[in-house]
Amino acid sequence: MNYIASNKLRSLASISIILLMASCSSSDSALRPVANGGTSGDKKVINAALRAEAKLIRSDYKPGELTELCNTSIKNTKQALDQVAAIPAEQRTIDNTLLALEKISADFTDEVSPLTFMGYVSTDEAISAEGSNCESAVGQFSVDIYTRRDLYQSFVNAVARNADEARLLKVTKDSFEKNGLKLSDEILAQVRQLKAQLAEKETQFSTNLNIDKTSVVFSADELAGLPADYIASLKKTDNGGLIVTTKESDYPLVMQNAVNAETRRKMMLAYLSRGTQTNNSKLLSEAVSLRSKIASLMGYKNWADYKTDGRMAQNGANVLNFLNGLKSKLAVRDQSDLAKLLAFKKELDPSATVLNQSDISYLSYQLQKRDFSLDNEKIREYFPADVVISGLFKVYSEMLGLRFEEVKDAKVWSPDVHLYEIHNAVDDQLIAYFYADFFPRAGKYGHAAAFPLISGRVIGENGAYSLPVASIVANLNPPLNGKPSLLAHDDVVTMFHEFGHIMHQTLTRAPYATLSGSSVAQDFVEAPSQMLENWPWSANILNSLSGHYLDHSKKLPADLLEKMIAAREFNQGYNYTKQLLYALYDMTLHTAGSELQDVNQIYLDLYKQIIGVEPLAGQQFPASFGHLMGGYDAGYYGYLWSEVYAQDMFSMFPSDNLMNPIVGYRYRKIILEKGNQTEALDLLKEFLNREPNADAFFRKLHIQPDDQPPK
Ligand SMILES: [Zn+2]
Repeated sequence: MNYIASNKLRSLASISIILLMASCSSSDSALRPVANGGTSGDKKVINAALRAEAKLIRSDYKPGELTELCNTSIKNTKQALDQVAAIPAEQRTIDNTLLALEKISADFTDEVSPLTFMGYVSTDEAISAEGSNCESAVGQFSVDIYTRRDLYQSFVNAVARNADEARLLKVTKDSFEKNGLKLSDEILAQVRQLKAQLAEKETQFSTNLNIDKTSVVFSADELAGLPADYIASLKKTDNGGLIVTTKESDYPLVMQNAVNAETRRKMMLAYLSRGTQTNNSKLLSEAVSLRSKIASLMGYKNWADYKTDGRMAQNGANVLNFLNGLKSKLAVRDQSDLAKLLAFKKELDPSATVLNQSDISYLSYQLQKRDFSLDNEKIREYFPADVVISGLFKVYSEMLGLRFEEVKDAKVWSPDVHLYEIHNAVDDQLIAYFYADFFPRAGKYGHAAAFPLISGRVIGENGAYSLPVASIVANLNPPLNGKPSLLAHDDVVTMFHEFGHIMHQTLTRAPYATLSGSSVAQDFVEAPSQMLENWPWSANILNSLSGHYLDHSKKLPADLLEKMIAAREFNQGYNYTKQLLYALYDMTLHTAGSELQDVNQIYLDLYKQIIGVEPLAGQQFPASFGHLMGGYDAGYYGYLWSEVYAQDMFSMFPSDNLMNPIVGYRYRKIILEKGNQTEALDLLKEFLNREPNADAFFRKLHIQPDDQPPK
């Protein structure tokens, strides 16, 4: 469920657009739908003018043209930046430095986002390749910008005249300072050297994992429980032994199905020994130590403080408080989930007394199959794509006070792509556009994502606002065997998630591209979309979203929904507890000092404490925990963090009426329109009218306020 921030530089496109009227004020604090006034005739004229100036995207590039446009844009942007950097200190103002840089970077992003997007969707292989190359070039260029000391110096002493300028100044400064531009040349050189060493360790760690060939040899008897055709497909040793790898194609299948406990133990031990031959644990330990040194040169207490500065969490201590606050309550659900697994184990083997780590996947999978199995093909029949899509549009437009209108004969990159206008329902003003590219094609991006293409910002002296443009990209089942495209319920949930990003990207009213749309703190950006994943689990909403493909009036039956909910809730306590374990492990390593740590022992101790099961002896899980060496360092907490705040926001919507337009309008005004104009935590408090808490998250897991974990 990706949200693609293809704009590493935050901002927009060439500002030839002069809109006829100022958009509705972003400081509307009444939080009620208010008509802007004017007659419908006026609005038609205004919308026609807006349409004429809208920046929609092209896909009809001649060979080499996209590359040429990309290079020209980079070249012109560099020149414009050089001019700002060259302004003598005594002539600098906030207008000719900070605000000029903002406009340049916004123009640049608006120029190149539609180009790089072609790398994901173009039907022409050559154009697609040019789009991808452009993305690499843009990525490198933006790294260069944020390490330029002359640019940093040009605006760093600017004096903000209002709250939006102050926020822009802070966010822009932070982007440069995270790269060390506040430091002296000497210290910065040390930081760069340590960062280069760190990058080497990280690359080595993941290379080691990629080339790891750990496997186990079993006899056919030892693989009892696995499908016969799977066993037949395995490679054999010279002695006829069956070779099972630790890759995704083998490992989960064996852990979920092998009846023999010793087989599972051996398999898990092999899996949790990946990377040990190549000393990955040592590489992790060294990386953690280097990170600690970098953080301290950068003026932070530890790596977690460095990484979380500028995020919603703000510092490592806040993250640890948050995680520790979940610990005892989650343990309640974890222990009850594991007790069910142990009871099931005793049913299978009356002599069983304890649950082993290597039993958990097997028992979970088998119990789920016995008690919660769902006929996914039957569920699909209730979700034809056209019913789901029109239902989704209806839900979002009613809830947020919008009207979507398809643009007929729009220029698009593939005939099955559609373009829509977004209007304010209350006064019909055109406010944004989105493209919908729902079905798979050869060469197209293979997952679901939301791409911002033109960002929202004020673009004229008179306060006129650009029309944001975004695209939802998905890969829904194409029609098959005479049946229409039928979606799995998971796909419906994904669509709600991604469309949540589209709304964040297009309904923005923030004045600067750097502060607009979904350019929010990294540990908040998923929360709105995670909240919206709750919608397709509500019976009322499913009435709009479902309709049997042979008779659309037949909605998803209530008993089927109940079974789906029970299946979703199965083992949820244990699953969230595992996330808590990983997050706490990450934060434990990254809030410590720079001496080398025994990363394996720390993990084993935490595993026992958090999960409540003895960890499998002999394992070295950290040697293969790629997240901590692949960008999630001091960031693993984000998954639980945004889930907890997503559920807290969700609790504001009446459960029997998730389309409630009053709450929806507040959500639009406070969360979606403001983007990054204010700290995420403050937006959250304003929306909730209180401090955020984890109560709604616990309620979702059926954990009561006074529940205590068993001793
Ligand atoms: Zn997402």
